[in-house]
Amino acid sequence: MSKKINLKALSKDEISGFMEQQGLPKYRTDQLLDWLYIRYAASLDDITEFSKDLRKRLGGIACIGNLQLVKRQQSSDGTEKFLFELEDGQTIESVLIPDKDRLTLCISSQVGCAMGCRFCLTGKSGLIRNLRAWEIVEQILSVNRLIMPKKITNIVFMGMGEPLANFDEVVEALKRIISYFGISKRRITLSTSGLAPKILELPGRAPEVNLAISLNATTDAVRDRLMPINKKYPIRSLLDACGKFPLRPRRLLTFEYVLIAGVNDSVEDGSRLVRLLRGLRCKVNLIPLNPPDPHAGSDLQRPSDAAVLAFQKVLEENNMTVLIRESKGQDILAACGQLRGRYSVERAAAGRQERRG
Ligand code: SF4
Repeated sequence: MSKKINLKALSKDEISGFMEQQGLPKYRTDQLLDWLYIRYAASLDDITEFSKDLRKRLGGIACIGNLQLVKRQQSSDGTEKFLFELEDGQTIESVLIPDKDRLTLCISSQVGCAMGCRFCLTGKSGLIRNLRAWEIVEQILSVNRLIMPKKITNIVFMGMGEPLANFDEVVEALKRIISYFGISKRRITLSTSGLAPKILELPGRAPEVNLAISLNATTDAVRDRLMPINKKYPIRSLLDACGKFPLRPRRLLTFEYVLIAGVNDSVEDGSRLVRLLRGLRCKVNLIPLNPPDPHAGSDLQRPSDAAVLAFQKVLEENNMTVLIRESKGQDILAACGQLRGRYSVERAAAGRQERRG
């Protein structure tokens, strides 16, 4: 028997085409989209606006794909982390960050990641596969369903994976997020480790969302060590690409800078950062490294508060917009990839016990 069509994997036009093929009028397409993305139907049987016969007929050839919630954890600071299982058994995570009237969801774009950043647990597992556009979008839908009647207001692509390395699916997902959930472009941020050519490709291909660059170093020698992608696209070529990124009035690029003790947190680094970013319309987020996770096996350390403040002062004295941001949800391992890492470790341990037992 041929595999059923997953309606969530189809674009709006493809859904229209599918419904037309079934001899159904246009209003049925609108109803279907409404049930999928506004009323969160998890199966065709939920769509009570369709007659039983129609549900049965469509159910013979189509289905509604869903992510399976494996784990949900809440941090003492209100951050919530969701681990989802995909249809092929792989897992991804999404992190919900409440902040005043905002509910930001940090979503994944790949299973694993090929970039190998040294301060990141996801990077250690390597790339397993790209997410499809619907799997990216589905993270928002699944969390919206779980937190009803609240709704996610902002999206950041800072979960597992390098979004620009899964370019086509991420671009399609952006279009669907804006169209299905009505989240404005200004409330969506793509974060990249620095794929310079893809930054240049974005403006012609994707909706005008915000761009964040994970910079984390002021010399190529240090960035090469922290982020191997730098060997391919060194700081200068990355910043040149950033300079060509079109920005609407009042919008800024964001540079993320994870501060690591004795590696990139000196006052000299601060001065170099000022010089590097001169001429770019941007703000800087300083993120003191999370306390090391024993599973990450990392020797990198968080800097002292004094070092963080001294670094910030250098930037402020040079009239830069700079914020210190703490990683949220530290007690639930909410830095990218950490819950998945822990879950895999637990699962592996459980598997070992089962085999022993
Ligand atoms: S920090 Fe982001 S780009 Fe770097 S390895 Fe982790 S997931 Fe990949």
